[in-house]
Amino acid sequence: MSDVLRVGDGQVISIAYRLQVDGEEIDASQDNAPLEYLHGFGNIIPGLEREMEGLAVGDSKHVTVSPEDGYGERDEDAFVDVPRSEFPSNLKLEEGTALRLEGEHGEPIFARIDRVDAEQVRLDFNHPLAGKELHFDVTIVGVRPATDEELEHGHPHTHGH
Ligand code: ZN
Repeated sequence: MSDVLRVGDGQVISIAYRLQVDGEEIDASQDNAPLEYLHGFGNIIPGLEREMEGLAVGDSKHVTVSPEDGYGERDEDAFVDVPRSEFPSNLKLEEGTALRLEGEHGEPIFARIDRVDAEQVRLDFNHPLAGKELHFDVTIVGVRPATDEELEHGHPHTHGH
């Protein structure tokens, strides 16, 4: 056997990927900017991380991820009715519009307008990919051991942070 590095816990992995949902490509890594993550630390969705295990540079794989291993099932309790008056008057309230709101500590919260009526706006706080089956085409482009600092932080440092 060889001493080729394989994807495993504590390795920094670079992947080129395409993501298709409902037959449409919705995301892909750029040619010169693979996605980097620290394996075993939950940096990426569990269903994808698990399937990368044991692969080496140059290996490609098609991975189908079910909602429970991806962004979760849609939660019917994640809908909230908000009075129209609480929205800025210059905001066009249209079904399907994605909103970036602020939580009580200033953290970003993403929601989508599900329904608009005379008095209320129904917001959907589900992740847009909740309930979706995800189809990834992944190629491993890099595997290297993480540094102690990366292991401590739980993410790669190639691009700073
Ligand atoms: Zn860090």
